[in-house]
Amino acid sequence: MAEMLEVSGITKRFGGLVAVNNVSFSVREKEILSVIGPNGAGKSTLFKLISSFLRPTSGEVRLKGERISGLAPHIAARKGVVRTFQETTIFKNMSVRDNVIIAHHLRSKASLVGFFLGTGTATTDEAAFGQSADEILKLLGLAQLADETARNLPHGHCALGIAIGLATDPSILLLDEPFAGMNHEETMRMVAMVRRLRDLGLTILLVEHDMPAVMKISDRIVVLNFGQKIAEGTPSEIQANDKVIEAYLGS
Ligand code: ADP
Ligand code: MG
Repeated sequence: MAEMLEVSGITKRFGGLVAVNNVSFSVREKEILSVIGPNGAGKSTLFKLISSFLRPTSGEVRLKGERISGLAPHIAARKGVVRTFQETTIFKNMSVRDNVIIAHHLRSKASLVGFFLGTGTATTDEAAFGQSADEILKLLGLAQLADETARNLPHGHCALGIAIGLATDPSILLLDEPFAGMNHEETMRMVAMVRRLRDLGLTILLVEHDMPAVMKISDRIVVLNFGQKIAEGTPSEIQANDKVIEAYLGS
């Protein structure tokens, strides 16, 4: 299977602390790869390195062979490395559907002016995307809520975050703890949804510490401990790995 994203010997130091230490792995096309590890293992730092929010001390990240580390985050996003939007970047006073349409414009750089003015002179591109926006919303179980104001979404902001990410047509979607704050039922629904996106051809990298969910959702798993990669493999390989068991028992 082809490699979508390649992380090579990436290291991040904060003063004397090595938060991520010479980590290498790749994410294959159309797989779900999860990064797990105890608190402080370096997951969030690795996530920021991959999405270009942090510059590595050494090592690099390549997307489809092209070096992306060192680029500004919005440039990396435009090249296709898209992290799900934080709640705060959602336009809370706009409808769920309009949030998705705006995200599409931001990527395609189409003019937002006509859209905001509501002049009714949508280009054919806007009209065409209106339909796929609805398809994205349907995929994420948000179809019924398309006309709802974003701020009124009950637990939908995570799904909306993913919808917004999808609208930007990513090569790889990065999910930062997508199950945080969810109960079991919501988690299982999100697991099924993300796997459906993978089945449709999306490549997904997620950072998460809900172990049961990670075991269910992942094609492969990378385990970090004290900044280093200590294991990589399928969920069953990871569950049987002595180093992984030790790292988690010790935490
Ligand atoms: P995780 O997400 O796995 O819990 P982090 O990547 O947040 O781990 O942190 C890894 C280590 O790097 C921790 O020891 C943390 O205190 C340290 N760290 C993270 N960000 C910074 C920063 N901006 N400055 C200094 N130390 C940091
Ligand atoms: Mg973290």
